[in-house]
Amino acid sequence: MYDLIVIGGGPAGMMGAATAGENGKKVLLLEKNAVLGKKLRITGNDRCNITNSGPIDDFQKNIINNGKFMYSSFATFDNVRLINLMRSLGVSMKVEKSNRVFPASDRSTDVVDALRRHLRENNVEIRLNAAVKDVMVEGVRVSGVILKRGDSIKCSRVLLATGGLSYRQTGSTGDGYRMAKMLGHSIIEPQPALAPLLTGENWVKDLQGVTLENVKVRAAVGSRQARQQGDLLFTHFGLSGPVIINISSYLSRNATFPLEIKIDLLPHFSTEQLTERLYVCLEQNKGKYLKNVFGDLLPQKMIPSIFEKAGLNQQKQVDQAGRKDIDQLTRTIKSLTVIVDGFRPINEAIITSGGIDTKEINPSTLESKMIKGLYFAGEIIDVDALTGGYNLQIAFSSGYLGGVSAAK
Ligand SMILES: Cc1cc2nc3c(=O)[nH]c(=O)nc-3n(C[C@H](O)[C@H](O)[C@H](O)COP(=O)(O)OP(=O)(O)OC[C@H]3O[C@@H](n4cnc5c(N)ncnc54)[C@H](O)[C@@H]3O)c2cc1C
Repeated sequence: MYDLIVIGGGPAGMMGAATAGENGKKVLLLEKNAVLGKKLRITGNDRCNITNSGPIDDFQKNIINNGKFMYSSFATFDNVRLINLMRSLGVSMKVEKSNRVFPASDRSTDVVDALRRHLRENNVEIRLNAAVKDVMVEGVRVSGVILKRGDSIKCSRVLLATGGLSYRQTGSTGDGYRMAKMLGHSIIEPQPALAPLLTGENWVKDLQGVTLENVKVRAAVGSRQARQQGDLLFTHFGLSGPVIINISSYLSRNATFPLEIKIDLLPHFSTEQLTERLYVCLEQNKGKYLKNVFGDLLPQKMIPSIFEKAGLNQQKQVDQAGRKDIDQLTRTIKSLTVIVDGFRPINEAIITSGGIDTKEINPSTLESKMIKGLYFAGEIIDVDALTGGYNLQIAFSSGYLGGVSAAK
């Protein structure tokens, strides 16, 4: 008989199991893969952007759904405690652009190995290749789990940390949603978040492989204007790159497609400054075709599409260009429209938006309000954030709080 069974050996589950073990409990961690932390290994391009060194207020600003639910989790185990824990486990950390924190070695496997040591030092029993089918309850109290291969294991508490629905090959196949639903929990419909966007616009596909640095993207979602700045990549299906990945999270719940997004290709110029700059280009390039004089400002491959969007004739000469042409060009560069038709499939999303309804979980303990002894942690909960290390901190903070609460 175990005090606690943790289902799922991702960052949330490993942290929860180790924390309960540290608090003297007899803990079993069940992971269906042959290794722990399969998704954690591929985070941050295998470098693991483990957290963000900014203040907790920044975390709240970067959480798209249910940030307030995370108050207690962050108050119990914040980014500083995570970094200190990693250091105490022998992983030194470094801070990069936008306060993103990585292991100094640039190896995500160092984080996985450290967590494995943390589990061992706290006497957590680990079973790999152990997929859980169901959580057993007696009345409204947890009594154990049933494995897919048929055997059952008794325990008084369960921490469900099976992750979301993206990158299924890493093990997050939505099993936890099904188990929680069987126990009466509501699931907010899982949607892709931090995902590339699709468009049917051919000019976008023709630009496949072109990257735009530090552009601003905005989209009207309901009554809100979502805005993000960063690099954008044109692909064979539509749009990707950090700025698109981040803006997509605002669209996960509330957008109806097709939806218009606007791209400011040169946000460091005000409209007036850009107009001025375009005139300078004209002055310096008399006698040339208009389409050939903006190569310093924009990728040359984009110019025909921009001319078309601006309603300008490709054959126009610089000397024939007037105020109206420049104004149209300025408007198009500052507000290039793309009609977006939806997301790439959820499996290609970095995270899942949706999951266990936070209204049914006590935020101070992460225990289910319906089933005694059932706790939740990580991406399975309906909380999601932008890129920057916030999602892993959510997993670690909720894992810690779930573990400490289940050990009381
Ligand atoms: C490509 C990619 C890059 C990312 N990079 C970053 C980054 O740099 N920084 C960041 O903050 N976030 C990043 N994320 C997001 C981050 O990885 C997740 O938010 C985080 O892993 C969620 O942790 P979790 O423990 O809740 O779930 P998971 O990591 O998904 O772990 C869940 C575990 O549960 C196991 N499981 C599922 N069902 C069962 C079952 N029935 N029985 C037993 N075990 C089961 C799974 O096999 C899995 O190991 C990235 C995600 C992806 C896909």
